[in-house]
Amino acid sequence: MKVIIVGAGIGGLTTAIALQLRGIAYEIYDGAPGNRPLGAGITLGVNAMRVYERLGVATAIQQVAMLPTYLNICTNSGTVLQSIRNAAMEGHYGTGTYGIHRATLQQILLDHVDQPVQWGKRCLSIIEGTDHVAVHFSDGSEAKANIVIGADGIRSAVRESHIETGRYRYSGQTCWRAIVPIDLPAKELVTASEVWSNKGGGLRAMYMQVGPKQVYWWMTVGRPEGSQWVPDQALAFIREQLRDFHDYMPQVLEALRPEYLIHGDLHDLAPLRSWYRGRVVLVGDAAHATTPNIGQGAGQAIEDAWVLAHSLAITENYSSAFERYQQVRIKRAQKIVDVSWQLGQLTNWKGRLLTSLRNGLMRSVPERMMERQLKYMFGVTLEG
Ligand SMILES: Cc1cc2nc3c(=O)[nH]c(=O)nc-3n(C[C@H](O)[C@H](O)[C@H](O)COP(=O)(O)OP(=O)(O)OC[C@H]3O[C@@H](n4cnc5c(N)ncnc54)[C@H](O)[C@@H]3O)c2cc1C
Repeated sequence: MKVIIVGAGIGGLTTAIALQLRGIAYEIYDGAPGNRPLGAGITLGVNAMRVYERLGVATAIQQVAMLPTYLNICTNSGTVLQSIRNAAMEGHYGTGTYGIHRATLQQILLDHVDQPVQWGKRCLSIIEGTDHVAVHFSDGSEAKANIVIGADGIRSAVRESHIETGRYRYSGQTCWRAIVPIDLPAKELVTASEVWSNKGGGLRAMYMQVGPKQVYWWMTVGRPEGSQWVPDQALAFIREQLRDFHDYMPQVLEALRPEYLIHGDLHDLAPLRSWYRGRVVLVGDAAHATTPNIGQGAGQAIEDAWVLAHSLAITENYSSAFERYQQVRIKRAQKIVDVSWQLGQLTNWKGRLLTSLRNGLMRSVPERMMERQLKYMFGVTLEG
């Protein structure tokens, strides 16, 4: 069986590695002109790292990524609302949650794929025949295979051309991210805190070291969809919004430059009826893009990769494999999309009264319930 993967992001590259582990031949195409060290940081949750252990990629990640002692949610007045101790996660699940520069992760994944990515191949459409499926690219070329895996992100052309029209849901929040070329002092490395403003209105920010001279910083705030920003004005706005955020935030903001800023509105994807049709199946954001509130978008793409490769390895029949993959994955991925959405909406609450209520709700989650939630997210058993 020959497989084409469209999209060489985290989902597509992880799928490639999972397929090669099962001895399944593939070609991988991406619309970008080449591998460019773009993006800011990312946290890889315990569940993602457990898949990478099985794929033989975890050690390379652990050698360069950062493992904070605590991952907290707190308020800008310093109250801790929730806390995860990475050592406890390592005790329970054998690994913790790591922070890494996206470009570093991308390079590690590229180092682990046997087939070179064919860059500059933007998929325009998919045409399915009786015994094959063809991918048409914007440079006029086409590629044929027995099946196509669409790993081309939230705006997936594979999905739009062959499976279903996606409906994007705006979270009400816009987001800036950056890599700031500084090192945090030692005491700031212990805890990676997502800080929620007591004013609410979607205002949150975080910084964490993800590599030498690489501090991953981000901020969200409630704004109408599609708001446009000139980088200089954006930076002035960001500094003003975060003026009463403490710890090392003032120093990080001091070192932040307009040219480092990556800006985008936060959307997710309304649930699809199906993740596959005929010879074409979706993984990652193409199937279930989520808001980043619980740091699980890539984690879910990585789980997809494992389960899809396993499903294709245990049956010659691609329809059965796709159905099995969907049955194992769709409910869990959708639940995570929903939980992430609800948490983001909670941060949209505005005003002293509502933010006090929000803080109280976050703090009053009983320890047993918190443990159950973490077990659901991190302790997932993927077959194979
Ligand atoms: C602000 C923010 C913070 C986040 N933080 C985290 C986090 O901490 N932890 C976490 O787990 N997740 C996080 N996520 C989510 C995570 O980034 C995504 O879920 C993940 O990148 C999805 O991977 P993917 O491969 O499915 O899609 P993408 O990363 O979007 O990759 C798609 C690839 O397909 C290519 N492509 C696109 N269109 C075409 C086409 N037509 N033809 C060919 N190629 C195409 C693109 O060039 C790209 O390489 C965050 C998301 C955002 C927005």
